[in-house]
Amino acid sequence: MAARLTAETVRDESPVARTRRARRIYRELVETYPYAAAELTFSSPLELLVATILSAQSTDVGVNKVTAVLFQRYRTAEDYATADRTELEELVRPTGFFRAKTDALIKLGVALQEHFDGEVPGRLEDLVTLPGVGRKTAHVVLGNAFGRPGITVDTHFGRLARRFGWTDETDPVKVEHAVGALFPRKDWTMLSHVVIFHGRRTCHARKPACGACPIARLCPAYGEGETDPVKAARLLKYELAPDARERGITPNGMATATYAAWLAEQDAVAGGPAGGAAR
Ligand code: SF4
Repeated sequence: MAARLTAETVRDESPVARTRRARRIYRELVETYPYAAAELTFSSPLELLVATILSAQSTDVGVNKVTAVLFQRYRTAEDYATADRTELEELVRPTGFFRAKTDALIKLGVALQEHFDGEVPGRLEDLVTLPGVGRKTAHVVLGNAFGRPGITVDTHFGRLARRFGWTDETDPVKVEHAVGALFPRKDWTMLSHVVIFHGRRTCHARKPACGACPIARLCPAYGEGETDPVKAARLLKYELAPDARERGITPNGMATATYAAWLAEQDAVAGGPAGGAAR
């Protein structure tokens, strides 16, 4: 069996070897999460921009509940620019930091009207001039609403890129450039989705589930978390594709028997079939 990778061994990796290993990790993650996509619900660039602003310090599931109502009432940049502050605050309150977010949405509406004819611009340099919009938000919008590849460096992506030994950088812009150099542009958006999915479900900040991880043999940080397969499986947090159980998909490439044990445990806890959303 090949020796485990360590932080030391990958430090001396050649650029070619690192690129190959990075792309292998990517391929495995795509196979593990073939349904990975933006988890925010939207039907236009404006809706995605608003949902992404609301998602700061909130879960995507929580934001989707709020936007289901919000987007019925607020459809255009003008609607946000001329919003009744009290009403908008009440609508976005469940996502937290509602005063600041309301402020950002109103200013966003005004800026879109003043500078972009009420439309969301499709260029990074324009998007980042908008109130409440940083590079991370801009890349989410470009990649998912405009089909323009971008790497979204959120807390999960940065943590995993460092654990994978793709970069030592902690500054999000530097992480973006270092990781971008390892992959073709066309893969950047899907790469962001699958890495973030993996961070949310398996490679958690405090207790990564190494023993249930499909890329353990490619990861120099293996062993930072639980390595026992059954104990690690208990740490998994994820929402499977809705029909995963019917289609026999096991999450994270987990052995079928381990998954069966995990499902039985979840069923016992929940008093019914597992497989619903958990974050
Ligand atoms: S769960 Fe463990 S092995 Fe898997 S990517 Fe995270 S640190 Fe590496």
